[in-house]
Amino acid sequence: MTAASAPEPSSLLLGNCTVLDARVVDGSRPLPDAGVWVRGDRIAAVGPYAEVAARARAAGPVTDLDLDGAYLTPGLVNMHTHFSLSLPGAGGDSVKSMGPHDLALYMADGARRTLHCGVTTVRCVAEKDHADFALRRAIAAGRTEGPRIHTAGRALVCTGGHGHESSDTLECDGPVGFRHGARSQIRAGADLIKVMISGGIAGEHERIHTPQLFTDELAAVIETAHAWGRKVTAHAGPAEVIGAAVDLGLDCVEHGYQLTPQVAARMAERGTALVPTLLVTRCKEFFDELGVPEWMQCRSLGAGPGHLESFATAVAAGVQVLLGSDMPPFWHFEGTNATVRELEYMAEVIGPARALHAGTLGPVRWLGVEDDRGTVQDGKLADLIAMDDDPLDGAAAFRGVRWVMKGGRVVRDDRAAAPGGAR
Ligand SMILES: [Zn+2]
Repeated sequence: MTAASAPEPSSLLLGNCTVLDARVVDGSRPLPDAGVWVRGDRIAAVGPYAEVAARARAAGPVTDLDLDGAYLTPGLVNMHTHFSLSLPGAGGDSVKSMGPHDLALYMADGARRTLHCGVTTVRCVAEKDHADFALRRAIAAGRTEGPRIHTAGRALVCTGGHGHESSDTLECDGPVGFRHGARSQIRAGADLIKVMISGGIAGEHERIHTPQLFTDELAAVIETAHAWGRKVTAHAGPAEVIGAAVDLGLDCVEHGYQLTPQVAARMAERGTALVPTLLVTRCKEFFDELGVPEWMQCRSLGAGPGHLESFATAVAAGVQVLLGSDMPPFWHFEGTNATVRELEYMAEVIGPARALHAGTLGPVRWLGVEDDRGTVQDGKLADLIAMDDDPLDGAAAFRGVRWVMKGGRVVRDDRAAAPGGAR
């Protein structure tokens, strides 16, 4: 469905571009002088320009769109987002004090900015008051602009546990309580379940290594979610806590500040993914901007070197790593946005080709939507972004995203006079 104000060309031909996607990791080559035919919200054909153009024109009237020699990739996927994030400090307090109407509009603004950064899909892993479901509905109906949203609703946490201070979590206790918590999020529309299983950076009364759930509680969450066809991801730091959770069937680890080679090997073996969120231990500038208190800043920056080492350990063990910023995905940070900055940090360890994978196809596979997204191929949704530099030369190329298409509709085009630029 599209917005009433945005008449959609039924047939659009993208040209003068080099097409590439994460299949380069498996040896496929970028395609220079490519044509991409977009029909409605999907890609109808990709290939050498002349061939694709002939097919498109044979099918009827076509609107041509010249991408000025850009590199065209799938839109980015940010697997750790909070549109309603409120950290300790003045900035967070102002978000916390918002009523439901202000909060919804604030989140909608963040969603629009995120899409314009080239992030066409997000996974929300704790949002306040179920406003994320309203936001997802509004975006899907074309009433507001934003990425495709997969959301956990409120994150499950033990009484007094990580993030309990805010309405983006739900306190539960005991296996019965956690089962109810998981079911209540699924009832509200959750696509996955998020659970806090250890302390973190933002909790004053806990440490990063504080275990927070008993085995029967976590088992209850995972069993319930899996029975309803939902994956479970966990905020988790220490290796012992993560190792036990992986054995219980956890599908994804957030942060993973203190992984050991043994636990990383177990994650790789069982297919548990890692969203490292490297930014959270290297974002002093962001914390300062929000007035985050000293105790939290110390804890965050202090965990930085170990966090990076832990990420490298996971990569060496063959763990699937996925892009996730934790900071609001659009937030202006170190000369770009948080999503791209996170991808750059990841690329320092895994290189640009695997970074492209971690930011597109890897997440899409985790989300179970590979048939629709993640590569530039016939039949998939036309969620595409264009930039001037080659992303295989460095993830910094994503700083230059200047054109964004979601579902066949151009939502950003920096060339003022461009056809579609005003849409
Ligand atoms: Zn988070």
